[in-house]
Amino acid sequence: MKIFYSDNHRKHYPPFEVFDGGKRVPYLENPNRMDQILNALKKTDWADLNQPTDFGLDPILAVHDKDYIAFLASAWTQWLSSDPEVAASPEQNAFLPATFALRRTPRVPSTLLGKAGYYIMDLSACIVEATYAAALTSAYCALSAAEFILLSTVNRPSSAFALCRPPGHHAGNDYAGGYCFINNAAVAANWLSSKGKVALLDIDYHAGNGTQDIFYERNDVLTISIHGDPDFEYPHYIGFADETGSGDGIGFHRNFPLPKGTGNEGYLSTLDEALNLIKNFAPNYLVISAGMDTFDGDPLGTFKVTREGIGEIGKRIAALHLPTAIIMEGGYANEALGTNIVTLLENFK
Ligand SMILES: [Zn+2]
Repeated sequence: MKIFYSDNHRKHYPPFEVFDGGKRVPYLENPNRMDQILNALKKTDWADLNQPTDFGLDPILAVHDKDYIAFLASAWTQWLSSDPEVAASPEQNAFLPATFALRRTPRVPSTLLGKAGYYIMDLSACIVEATYAAALTSAYCALSAAEFILLSTVNRPSSAFALCRPPGHHAGNDYAGGYCFINNAAVAANWLSSKGKVALLDIDYHAGNGTQDIFYERNDVLTISIHGDPDFEYPHYIGFADETGSGDGIGFHRNFPLPKGTGNEGYLSTLDEALNLIKNFAPNYLVISAGMDTFDGDPLGTFKVTREGIGEIGKRIAALHLPTAIIMEGGYANEALGTNIVTLLENFK
């Protein structure tokens, strides 16, 4: 199986993030996640690791606001030059605002911190020197996987895995959040949409708010997210069942919010509903936002999906027999992450 991965993410390792209650904690979305997955993949006889292709900025700007991308590209160096204390010990710092735009006015402030509060939605999207380069390369991994599945034939649909870090599904057109800066799966799905109809299924534990926002008014990309109910879970303000698209996109977005403690049975019956929607839409291409934080024991999740459950999720998605680009999203039970990803991917090899 073709896998696209780059080491470029490694220096995107903020020294902390801020949890609820203002608690400073070590950055949970860390490079060790990738090492766990790489180690597990290297033990298989089917993982074919490849460097991503550089696609330039056009496919990124087809999904993201150009001023937002310019902000991401320059925030760290601007911050460094604005504060001698930060410049003296950059490795102990991460760029974050303390003020957020209240229900988003259309006016983008001119100051760096004003912009940060406008373009960042929470205290997990910490920016350090290597963040922008890592986010770009991560999107290129997703695009490379998308490009590879174009080689599919009717009788032999191909699949590819983009081992992306940072993840992407919380990033919207003009905002970062939830460890995400560029929406890798959305960039890939949008790129594929010029070649045919695309369905994007998000199986991360958290609602794919960025993906929902990006495609909300479109009917050429069906987006579906299965996740912890935002009534109790991050991202709190979006991902409810009655959000089904607007304008031309009405009926082309679906959310499946599930209760705390959802196990294999509850998850798989919901997945079947989602897969039926995809069958009826009859897409040419499938993009999966593959978060592994539905796993029982994930520190950021409440579901009880087991390894067997993850295997069954993969089996049922693969049974659609569609060209499929699988894009890495969340998953923070690091010691189980590698085996879980291998268990999911084995169905597509
Ligand atoms: Zn997640």
